[in-house]
Amino acid sequence: MTAIDEKIEPIFAEVLRRNAGEVEFHQAVMEVLGSIGRVVAKHPHYANSALIERICEPERQIIFRVPWMDDKGQHHIARGFRVQFNSALGPHKGGIRFHPSVNLGIIKFLGFEQTFKNALTGLPIGGGKGGSDFNPRDRSDGEIMRFCQSFMTELQRHVGEYTDVPAGDIGVGAREVGYMFGQYKRITNRYEAGVLTGKGLIYGGSRARKEATGYGAATFVQCMLRTRNTDFEDKKVVVSGSGNVAIYTMEKILSLGGKVVACSDSNGFIVDEGGIDLDLVKEIKEHRRERISEYAKIKKGTSRYVDGGTIWDVPCDVAMPSATQNELTGKDARTLIRNGVVAVGEGANMPCTPDAISAFREAGILFGPAKAANAGGVATSALEMQQNASRDSWTFEQTEKRLSEIMVGIHDLCAQTADEYGSPGDYVLGANIAGFVRVAEAMEALGVI
Ligand code: GLU
Repeated sequence: MTAIDEKIEPIFAEVLRRNAGEVEFHQAVMEVLGSIGRVVAKHPHYANSALIERICEPERQIIFRVPWMDDKGQHHIARGFRVQFNSALGPHKGGIRFHPSVNLGIIKFLGFEQTFKNALTGLPIGGGKGGSDFNPRDRSDGEIMRFCQSFMTELQRHVGEYTDVPAGDIGVGAREVGYMFGQYKRITNRYEAGVLTGKGLIYGGSRARKEATGYGAATFVQCMLRTRNTDFEDKKVVVSGSGNVAIYTMEKILSLGGKVVACSDSNGFIVDEGGIDLDLVKEIKEHRRERISEYAKIKKGTSRYVDGGTIWDVPCDVAMPSATQNELTGKDARTLIRNGVVAVGEGANMPCTPDAISAFREAGILFGPAKAANAGGVATSALEMQQNASRDSWTFEQTEKRLSEIMVGIHDLCAQTADEYGSPGDYVLGANIAGFVRVAEAMEALGVI
């Protein structure tokens, strides 16, 4: 990882002091601050008016109690969060994550990343993130609904079409967004469709939103491959995860001629050298809501399930970590490099550790960082907001075309910025600088607020 410039070092030291113990947040801040030394050298005014300090400090952090009742009548308390990180470019925008690992530091890292990611889309959206340490695994539909209603009963005070627009993330899909929207509508007595994105198609959702993060990530990697005169055709690909991002990353890769040989969940991974049967993965994960090990039970002859272990041991040309933060370590990166990987695209948020990113950059591997590569989801959320504001509904083709143009635009912006700052092909630097400059310009224009 690039060392932090000595002028910026004291700002980072203050972030560490003020946010003690929030390791994921430190990691996300370090990555951005480690990239902007050259920007500050070129534009010293960015060091004025505590601009960088303000960018590292969320505008608002909300923590609340979420009481809920399970099917047996027992009461539970979860903790809810919403971090409204930055609204210089538009209303706060970012997903909601339900996972037992959720804490304030994780939501802050996600909100910080989201701010720059959203800036890269070029659309008018600020950054935010929310969630809860509620574990939705094995919960009934009724329990999920009651939890979402309780969560929104508090969250509704803080969100709105012009204020803060949540969406899904890990553990939150169209079902949960539907329950939250229903409760918002009931409490506020307003059909304010633009308050949430990732909605179902029947009540104001956008076509291609479900597919967008995965399709966008594959499109970004395709753009990177093209810079080396190649593409996905006949490439062997490993995609970690089997949630929404992973499934639609695989779908796009298949349509571009690639072959996906492995995917995973938090228990283990499956390998199918003949090519993963995506319809079966969808059936298991989207409909039955079961574990990925079921795949190997159904496809006994051709596939195998590995309990635990690391999916990054499976040799491939392209790796797309699409599960969760810090899932791909330096050791995994070195294994992938040894096995001949040519490109890595981050579908999840911050899935590669700093050590892994350094290894890929040093080896000259094409590396698409999350805030650029996975921006297609939130970009399509912004398109959903556009459709809601104009009371319109676009076709799948129209929406997918916009998504694809946005992803090509993000790729080109990152590549041009890396060139401009003297590191051709360094998408990490390009994404961090381009995102930072957009947020910084807007914040300067708005005064010290
Ligand atoms: N959770 C997604 C992300 O990490 C999407 C957020 C949104 O659509 O607002 O970007």
